[in-house]
Amino acid sequence: MSTSNNTSTGSSTEQYDVIVVGGGMVGASFACSLAKLSKNSKQLKIAVVEAAPTPTWSKQNYDLIDHDLRVSAITRASECFLRNIGVWDRIQQRRISPFREMHVWDSTGNGVIHFDSAQIGEANMGHIVENSVILLSILDRLNEFDNVDYISPVKVSTINIDDEQVSMTLADGQCLHANLLVGADGSHSWVREQANIKVKGWDYQQKALVATVKTSINHNETAWQRFLPDGPLAFLPLSDGFCSIVWSATTQRAEQLLALDDEQFISELESTFDRRLGSIDFVSTRAAYPLKLQYATSYVSSRLALIGDAAHTVHPLAGQGVNLGFMDAATLSEVLGKTIDNTKSGYSDIGAYAVLRKYERWRKSDNLATLAVMDVFKKLFGNNLPFVRWIRNAGLTMTHKTEPVKNIIMRHTMGLTGDLPTLAKPVYLSGSAIQEKHVSGVA
Ligand SMILES: Cc1cc2nc3c(=O)[nH]c(=O)nc-3n(C[C@H](O)[C@H](O)[C@H](O)COP(=O)(O)OP(=O)(O)OC[C@H]3O[C@@H](n4cnc5c(N)ncnc54)[C@H](O)[C@@H]3O)c2cc1C
Repeated sequence: MSTSNNTSTGSSTEQYDVIVVGGGMVGASFACSLAKLSKNSKQLKIAVVEAAPTPTWSKQNYDLIDHDLRVSAITRASECFLRNIGVWDRIQQRRISPFREMHVWDSTGNGVIHFDSAQIGEANMGHIVENSVILLSILDRLNEFDNVDYISPVKVSTINIDDEQVSMTLADGQCLHANLLVGADGSHSWVREQANIKVKGWDYQQKALVATVKTSINHNETAWQRFLPDGPLAFLPLSDGFCSIVWSATTQRAEQLLALDDEQFISELESTFDRRLGSIDFVSTRAAYPLKLQYATSYVSSRLALIGDAAHTVHPLAGQGVNLGFMDAATLSEVLGKTIDNTKSGYSDIGAYAVLRKYERWRKSDNLATLAVMDVFKKLFGNNLPFVRWIRNAGLTMTHKTEPVKNIIMRHTMGLTGDLPTLAKPVYLSGSAIQEKHVSGVA
């Protein structure tokens, strides 16, 4: 990868096969995946245009660095994808925390559910990883490809898409051309707006407050989630006994919580969490993010594809957002890789609508199903009517006692259901535990 720091105001023109706008976790992983997949056939020339400066703190000794406030629960399917594109080892070398169990309980009744990965012969249900660790590890890997230009920090000024190609000017005057544009620029996607692709959805009128805490009782590699009338409060295990909390509440309540001093906040947090992990001995700074459900009505048009939050944004209660984005990235690169491989005469048009529709058909229904399930959960657990409370608590307890149903939910949480792209599929070897084998010729 060549990285250009956009200090110049040149007006050069560059031709690419694919331009990705947005070099976040999803956009950068897609570039990695496509750069690798296309290596054996025609080597595609890829540009990633990112508005934010490239992160520079690639220090290996993570013990000395505070935990990032933003973390993600990474599923087994995403782990496989990141492993197959050569990113997972780099994440592990930095900082990562597995979770083997999950405890969920309702604050308004006696409903509880407990998941244990050992019940399905797995070492863990997934990992909690800081977003900055994921992004830095992807960018390290991207750096090894000489067919990728990572252009940052710079914004796109204009985009023009016609039958033949995509043309784009950057704020510094550079002109870029490509056969395909991939919008990976997050939930407020500018690319999506320029392409006139509509979104549907609603604002939950909620914010998710995040912070890092240290508890007097160790988290025991368990993800803890308590459902409250306002929204869930999760304690996610991090390294060295720290936890990342994600506390979803009405916007007003979240603002109040943000305004408390540390002592008042700790006291609220301890009581709201039932002191399940004892006292809170440390709390970091806090931040809060607005929550919404949103999906693009189309993921593709001629010469354009949307991936990640640009295509769909989901409530974080089950930690699925970036995992869905990684599956988009793996699927789109697989569809494009096959298109190139299948063309004996050399190179087929990867920006053709018919090609991109294969990606849309593959991912859209899966993503919509997950969005719908998360929305039902959010509404079911946020409802305080006595009848709904009863159903919810009875449902939790019944599910807890029904092993086969629990096992299905666990496999779903691990991302192991549905029509997975090849790069995200674990390879089942002999023995009870799943071991992944690198997909041949990819890692
Ligand atoms: C509190 C919270 C907790 C969450 N927890 C989880 C979890 O546990 N598990 C999970 O799977 N998901 C989780 N999510 C969701 C997850 O964070 C998102 O799904 C994920 O960050 C989306 O990644 P992305 O790369 O698609 O978009 P983004 O992370 O938004 O990245 C978009 C990138 O595009 C760049 N960009 C934007 N506009 C332009 C432009 N015009 N030109 C160039 N670049 C541009 C931005 O700078 C950014 O780098 C959580 C979300 C929240 C709010």
